[in-house]
Amino acid sequence: MDDDWMRDWGKLDDIAYNVCGGQSPGTCPICMIGELRFYYHAFKSNLGLSPRCALWVWCSHCRRGGIAHGIGAMSWWEWADPLDEVKLAELRKDPPLTKHLNRMWEENLIRHDVPTNPAKLKK
Ligand SMILES: [Zn+2]
Repeated sequence: MDDDWMRDWGKLDDIAYNVCGGQSPGTCPICMIGELRFYYHAFKSNLGLSPRCALWVWCSHCRRGGIAHGIGAMSWWEWADPLDEVKLAELRKDPPLTKHLNRMWEENLIRHDVPTNPAKLKK
């Protein structure tokens, strides 16, 4: 059952932007059961575009997902990225991307903690 992943345009998008600020996403606000998972990717600027980055958030329990996109590069996000442009493009041919990200999370290919955002510490 991979076709029941759904995009949530409201709360989970907001939480994705919060993670970009260095917050842990916490419990899913939709089902109140799942701990939210996340993945950050910085796209390379090989098309003459400025680097564009995105951060996905999803719940493996109710299978809702959100995204923060068009965000600036987060240099403090120091974890190694398990996906390069080619691999990510391959996964996107078999949507939704979230099911692949969730599998990678469960295989520990994606780190489960948010790195420390130095801007957040100054507040
Ligand atoms: Zn949920």
